[in-house]
Amino acid sequence: MPRFDVISQGEELLSGSTVDTNAGWICHELAQIGLEPGRITVVGDVLDDIRAVFVEAAGRSSVVICTGGLGPTSDDLTSDAAAAAFGQAVASNPEALAQVEERYRSRKREMPPANRKQAMLPVRSTVLVNRLGTAPGFRMEEGGTVLYFLPGVPFEMKAMVAEHVIPELRARFALPPRRTVVLRCMGIAESVAGQKMEGFERPGVLVGFRANMPEVHVKLHLSPELDPAPLIAEVRERLGGVIFGVDTGPLAEVVGQHLRARGETIATAESCTAGRIAAALGAIAGASDYLLGGAVVYSNAEKVRQCGVDPDVLAAFGAVSEPVARALAEGIRTRVGATWGLAVTGIAGPGGGSPEKPVGTVHLALAGPSGTTHKRIQLPFERERVLLFTVGAALDLLRRAVDTPT
Ligand code: ATP
Repeated sequence: MPRFDVISQGEELLSGSTVDTNAGWICHELAQIGLEPGRITVVGDVLDDIRAVFVEAAGRSSVVICTGGLGPTSDDLTSDAAAAAFGQAVASNPEALAQVEERYRSRKREMPPANRKQAMLPVRSTVLVNRLGTAPGFRMEEGGTVLYFLPGVPFEMKAMVAEHVIPELRARFALPPRRTVVLRCMGIAESVAGQKMEGFERPGVLVGFRANMPEVHVKLHLSPELDPAPLIAEVRERLGGVIFGVDTGPLAEVVGQHLRARGETIATAESCTAGRIAAALGAIAGASDYLLGGAVVYSNAEKVRQCGVDPDVLAAFGAVSEPVARALAEGIRTRVGATWGLAVTGIAGPGGGSPEKPVGTVHLALAGPSGTTHKRIQLPFERERVLLFTVGAALDLLRRAVDTPT
């Protein structure tokens, strides 16, 4: 298996002001196509250090991916260091310059002279288009090693890996096309999914797991000749209803697709999550087809005012209770006039818990055309994860109600 090195360049990564997320992402993506991760190196903004790291990495791996340091400022040293590492000069690359200029022209802005630096590349390098930013990337071939130099900005880097690096490496090493099916799950721990999938692997089938909080992704890496349908059916038998999508986007997107297909609408009433459920739904393009609105009902007074919760019910059962969750869901559904009313009320912590209602107690309710369903969950987490998983659980309650055709 060809080995690869990843280099993350930038003083901010050494000082800790930016966390290196690029390297892990690259390792994951390249391992998926059948390359072997060799080493990750983080290096600051010292020309000689960067040069030495390039030489070392090229000496031990067939592929080197470096991110960062392609900007217009004096601390962006990648191009100079790459040239120095392989005994080359830098020169203004006309193709790279045209890309940088075009980027400014298309945004109707004057290009600052400093940006000409982004077109100064090692003389024996090939420019790579960066569709999403100003800094072009480049590729070098040195002694049997291919080196890619990509921008540090994560979304620019990711697009360039997908558009340039992966197709080129597949062709270069004749990597067999492997199909990956991603089954997205909500409401199951990664370890439990792992147990349920034990013994599933067989020739041509590799299983991987990824906790992508609050979702868990089960990945099937399949040889191209295999039909995925019976394998997916078998995973469904093992994992059951926690699978909300196969090769889909996140849960909020899937829920939105179901609502749109059914011609239905949703309104939310949120206590502990204070708008995060509506925000998750609203983050999906086209959400105006089904998301009508929502209320943040943090205080008891707002639960009464915005959702018509009976103050006597609040006094008798407390804000974090089944009757209040139901009343919130029904109240918001009626007041907004939506098909569905989705409500949550819970104790996110760290304070506010009691023996009967410990931190992590959450009541979810969904009011719909044929009545109201309720669910109590107990999340063994700290505040941030309680909120994250509450959003996931609430969307999943809705998903289970709408994922069958009307
Ligand atoms: P550009 O000129 O387009 O900014 P660049 O290659 O010069 O690209 P850098 O200046 O090194 O990129 O980084 C730009 C931003 O990208 C940084 O401020 C940081 O937020 C982010 N970034 C850089 N490297 C990483 C990394 N390894 N992991 C996560 N974020 C990163």
